[in-house]
Amino acid sequence: MQNLNLIAGSWCPADSGGTFPVLDPADDGLVAEVPECGIAETRRAIEAAHAAHPPFLARPAAERVDMLRRLSALMDDRVDELASILTSEQGKPLAEARGEIAYARSYLDGAAWEAERMAMVEELDPERTGKAILVRRAAVGATAAITPWNFPIAMLTKKVGPAFAMGCTMVLKPAEHTPLSALAFGELCIEAGVPDGVMNIVTGSPEVIGEELMGNPLIRKVSFTGSTEVGRILVRGASRNLPRLALELGGHAPFIVLEDADVELAVAGAMSCKFRNAGQACISANRFLVHEAVHDRFVERLVEAAGRLVVGRGTDDGVDIGPVIDDASMAKIDRHVRDALDRGARCELGGGHVHIDGLTDRFHEPTVLTGCTPEMLCFREETFGPVCPVMAFSEIEEAIRIANDSPFGLAGYLWTSDRDAAIRLAPRLEVGVVGINDPSPVTTYTPFGGMKQSGWGREGGRAGLEEYVPLQTISIGPTN
Ligand code: NAP
Repeated sequence: MQNLNLIAGSWCPADSGGTFPVLDPADDGLVAEVPECGIAETRRAIEAAHAAHPPFLARPAAERVDMLRRLSALMDDRVDELASILTSEQGKPLAEARGEIAYARSYLDGAAWEAERMAMVEELDPERTGKAILVRRAAVGATAAITPWNFPIAMLTKKVGPAFAMGCTMVLKPAEHTPLSALAFGELCIEAGVPDGVMNIVTGSPEVIGEELMGNPLIRKVSFTGSTEVGRILVRGASRNLPRLALELGGHAPFIVLEDADVELAVAGAMSCKFRNAGQACISANRFLVHEAVHDRFVERLVEAAGRLVVGRGTDDGVDIGPVIDDASMAKIDRHVRDALDRGARCELGGGHVHIDGLTDRFHEPTVLTGCTPEMLCFREETFGPVCPVMAFSEIEEAIRIANDSPFGLAGYLWTSDRDAAIRLAPRLEVGVVGINDPSPVTTYTPFGGMKQSGWGREGGRAGLEEYVPLQTISIGPTN
């Protein structure tokens, strides 16, 4: 398992020799020690990415596309090894880890596909403009990526795919909980022939590395996925050099089940979009708003299905829900459940911890709460755990109002048998992505990102690539 940092094509320790531990959230066992890098190493990584940019951009675009496809194929060859690293540092069940790797590959393949079809130069109609005007997509240069622990490898390739496809280089700071998946990906970059300096990875204190990434003028774009709170810190940091900034931030998705919904389908959707990754996904359904006509049946079927989920260590066969990432996450889930019960919610399933011999106290029961209200913490903040807070409604206007009563707007879900009505309703949700009878509304080809405090910019699809190539206009007067 690679545990050094990647700078200018070489694997290096921290200058100080310092390291920090990566622990398995299931048992706090030591998985590896990785370098505690600081300003000097980050600066070298930035300089390497800056120096590598012109020759990388000068390569034929087809070569970069081939490189992305080789990377994707290598990930497929090593899926078991990568999944095992991912589960050991993140905790998710192995089957989900394999799923994340397939999803991560899709961002490399998707970026390659889009890049092959993207016109990099367009000539405006001279009859209209009165002169020759070219508009070209200009690769932004060296970029920085800061990624979260919940999907450590998919959130990484979501940035690497478009960056490399558009000829940009990168310095990555992965989350401290999950640096090993990123370092394993760095090894594959070398094997796939990614030139030295194009991919650099530094691990260590987020404040120290983040400060250098945001403050160094050689970084022309920063792509961040994580919490809204840290997003704000980065916006302040960016005020000095004004790099382009893409922020994929927190969510608080409403899951609205209409009177005419197919309840079985809605429950299957809820199971997938609530319990995946133990509820630690930015697009997890966080607030269930269910029409009173189908509320009882929905809850009954949800309790049955969620009650069958197996909680345990991600490496064990048949496990559906692994540990949450750390004690602070567990404390937040506890706080949300306690607050809901104190304010009058009923616990229909779960509500507590699962104690497993020899393992940490980070395993939470799948939980269903009813009688929830908009004042409860679980209806105001992202829970990031396997908890379904349910509220009944009678009028759709009320459900839409509650759904939009949040500073966040990443994803939202509608369950109904009336496709046309849903398509009319979807634009009224103040979110970047709406799933109509669809619990996984994200693919590599779809623009993904938030409204309101859920972020700036889009990843995925052509829009994701465009973030790396600001337009340059070339206006040509008479030349003789
Ligand atoms: P986080 O605490 O914001 O951390 C995200 C990344 O930022 C980590 O690499 C973290 O490093 C780093 N970081 C923390 N403080 C920093 C600073 N001062 N300067 C620079 N970097 C800093 O978020 P998280 O807890 O890992 O992830 C969960 C959040 O991400 C949730 O809110 C979730 O909704 C959101 N998310 C959003 C999307 C999306 O696409 N919109 C996708 C996935 C997750 P350390 O880990 O080393 O502290």
